[in-house]
Amino acid sequence: MKPIQDIYPHLTTPRNVVITTHQKPDADAMGSSLAMYHFLTALGHSVTVVSPTNWAKWLDWMPGSAKVIDYELQRDRGEAALQQAQWVFCLDFNVLVRTKHMANTLRQGAYDRILIDHHQQPEVPLFTWGISDTAKSSTCEMVYDFIVGGGYGDRITPAIADCLYAGVMTDTGSFRFPSASASVHRMVADLKDRGLQHTLVHENIYDNFLENRLRFIGHILLHRMDLFYEYNTALISIPKKDLLRFEIKTGDTEGLVNWPLSIQGIKLAALVIDRDEERKWSFRSKGDFDVNTFARNYFEGGGHFNAAGGRSSDSLDGTVQRFLEAMKENALQLQ
Ligand code: 5GP
Ligand code: MN
Repeated sequence: MKPIQDIYPHLTTPRNVVITTHQKPDADAMGSSLAMYHFLTALGHSVTVVSPTNWAKWLDWMPGSAKVIDYELQRDRGEAALQQAQWVFCLDFNVLVRTKHMANTLRQGAYDRILIDHHQQPEVPLFTWGISDTAKSSTCEMVYDFIVGGGYGDRITPAIADCLYAGVMTDTGSFRFPSASASVHRMVADLKDRGLQHTLVHENIYDNFLENRLRFIGHILLHRMDLFYEYNTALISIPKKDLLRFEIKTGDTEGLVNWPLSIQGIKLAALVIDRDEERKWSFRSKGDFDVNTFARNYFEGGGHFNAAGGRSSDSLDGTVQRFLEAMKENALQLQ
């Protein structure tokens, strides 16, 4: 993988470009993809954003989201865009399995793949150019660095600023995680100068739900959360019937895993949701408990030191039992 800077001389020649990201894109995935979409389109490239799956409705305010292809729903259109692509930007993921049904086609394509990502352990040989930096707060910060680093800071429009801010705000837990560095705050100041509407972005993301989602959170915190104080651990386990009862849609469960960390002493918060095809895990930690390794060791997952995810094809009860065993095996690290 050549350094990302090596692509700058080629940016001035228009190309067919696809931008893709991980399945069920979050605000960082969608924000970085759409910011890059607007940037490259303005440079004269023909750009299509292809998402492996659908995304939360509350991301639809993002400028350009209506043009994003959902590969699961519109496979032919996604394949057509990939067939013509010369470059495929891979944003906010670094292993192809995270693109679900797109993984095979992405692996086989003759185009150059370009990586911009902040997760651990990238599949480096796949990429022609790229940057992988786990110290970065978000892929949006890295896209900002990419644009500014190429001398294109003046190309940042208010739409690009809003998309970038959405990703950096959500991936830093609203600027609370240690990754919210001085550079992140400087970037936000620059985005403000370039027309960022931060209040609007915040409202679009955090105040844009239906009543059912708040009632669902109340129900979950009351009935589905177990605390294991001996291990400084909280576990939320959500059966499918709750998702049906409260008509839960993609994105409605985002952020739920953070709630138990507000309890004094809790170092590890785990959330498992019984989705149709798998049991999906989310892990969050405070301090020195490494959930990336934990997710890798026990739940076929990964992510960051303090935020990771994983999966299991076991039943809900089975995967919860496995978690409880894993928690006990990690008792020392959880002290
Ligand atoms: P979330 O809990 O929000 O779904 O994911 C937390 C972090 O872990 C995100 O940075 C996400 O990209 C990563 N992540 C989530 N699920 C998986 C997974 O199954 N495999 C890997 N490698 N990373 C994951
Ligand atoms: Mn991210």
